[in-house]
Amino acid sequence: MRILVTNDDGVYSEGLWELAEALGEVGEVDVAAPDRNLSGTGTAMTLTTVLRAERFPSPIEGVDAYAVQGTPSDCVALAAKSLFDGAFDLVVSGINRGANIGMDVLVSGTVGGALKGYFGGIPSIAVSSTYTAGREVRYGLSASVARELARSIRDRSITQPMLLNVNAPYQDHPGACPLDVTSLGPIAYVEDIEIGRDGSRTHYWIRHGKAADVDLSPGTDVWAIRNGRISVTAIALPGVGAPYPGVVEALAQDVRAVLRLGES
Ligand code: MN
Repeated sequence: MRILVTNDDGVYSEGLWELAEALGEVGEVDVAAPDRNLSGTGTAMTLTTVLRAERFPSPIEGVDAYAVQGTPSDCVALAAKSLFDGAFDLVVSGINRGANIGMDVLVSGTVGGALKGYFGGIPSIAVSSTYTAGREVRYGLSASVARELARSIRDRSITQPMLLNVNAPYQDHPGACPLDVTSLGPIAYVEDIEIGRDGSRTHYWIRHGKAADVDLSPGTDVWAIRNGRISVTAIALPGVGAPYPGVVEALAQDVRAVLRLGES
């Protein structure tokens, strides 16, 4: 299985390489990631200027990597059609520093990168880890879930386009953490605008990350993450394709079995 790994936190992000290393146990991994942090760029593509892509010294043996002067979607487009030879069987984007849940996935460059794979007609997974203020992000649990999802997609010979959005809580090891198959919840975050002065000018900084005060019921990704659970959401758009009934639950069950996770 050939796996393309991208992200939106950029090529220097720790989560990218933890993901690439974990997926290396399942298939042949290539990396194309933005040369800087492009969080919040959603599905944006760069159409009004040239793009450059430079070989990046991969810290993982056997993994080829490029740093691309563009968005996650740009990375997937270039990787699929130009940077590497041959077709990919799976695109995995992440591991993002911070959850991507609810309607906010439309803003997420992590989800945007996976969406580009999904538009290209192959299984694609966006992966994020929650973080708690003042603590280091832990990517281990997210990496394990992504690895086992990829293994299950490979072993079940799934080639249909699908977009899975995975979020895991602040935790290294599965432990008693249950894995839920969820639907997209409501808006999870609201932004504050911070106003500052630099010299004689005013600047504005969008601070995105304050939890929205929304009514939640079990079954959504927002509820799952706020209750310390792992969330797997299948996002489907009309005309692109959706997982066959039961496929996502079957994949989730494989992951639960291998990682000894609880049932939802
Ligand atoms: Mn990000």
